[in-house]
Amino acid sequence: MADEHFESFWKALTSAKDVAVFTGAGVSTLSGIKDFRGKDGVYSKPWQGYNVEDILSIPMFKKDPAIFYAWAREFCYCLDRFSPCIVHTVLAKLEEKGMIGGVMTQNIDILHQKAGSKRVLEVHGSPSCHHCLKCRKTFGYDDIAPTVMRGDVPKCECGGVIKPDIIFYGESLDSDTLEACFDWAQKCDLMLVLGSSLTVQPAASIPLCAWQSGAKVAIVNAQPTPLDSLAAFHFDDLKSFAEAIELKLSLGDPS
Ligand SMILES: [Zn+2]
Repeated sequence: MADEHFESFWKALTSAKDVAVFTGAGVSTLSGIKDFRGKDGVYSKPWQGYNVEDILSIPMFKKDPAIFYAWAREFCYCLDRFSPCIVHTVLAKLEEKGMIGGVMTQNIDILHQKAGSKRVLEVHGSPSCHHCLKCRKTFGYDDIAPTVMRGDVPKCECGGVIKPDIIFYGESLDSDTLEACFDWAQKCDLMLVLGSSLTVQPAASIPLCAWQSGAKVAIVNAQPTPLDSLAAFHFDDLKSFAEAIELKLSLGDPS
């Protein structure tokens, strides 16, 4: 991707003081994780007669958590099968070099952390934390995954059901996380959007907020997004975009 458009993006990236990054499902699909909302996404077909949106809703979870955990065996608790892709690793390197300030993500697969990213704002929550619905005791992913994979519903010693801290339908997004995202969007001078079609609210308004506060927006996504017309930079192919950055970094070309 040694073209002029990429070169001017690179110049913007390397001269920006504060670069915010927002990632969506497209980054995870490069790691082989199924897209929840895409055309062939997990949400588009029922699972054992249940709508996935119902499985992921709070009322159904409270009524029968076994349905969620049976579904989640396939989708949330086998994350050790997946490795970070080039986008995850490039973002971790950029953060290590101080060229980006971390990442905000819609993804719930912990792959940014696995790649080495330190500051990860997980807009839709994270399965890396769980809590007991009765006594609020917290548990990590590794405490819970083996139980779920055995086919059991994880329970606390107090008898309460344990729930992952991913945002279910009927729950609001975490206000501290959202506030941190919008804060960052307002302060940054470049907002990089990777692999998100920017259709899910309110997360999609984060890049818009950056643009309204005067930041340049760069969008890398295979499909068009509602913010394409505002974007100073646009690329279709996430993988070759990440490869171009990796090449720049390997050449030691920070300017
Ligand atoms: Zn408990």
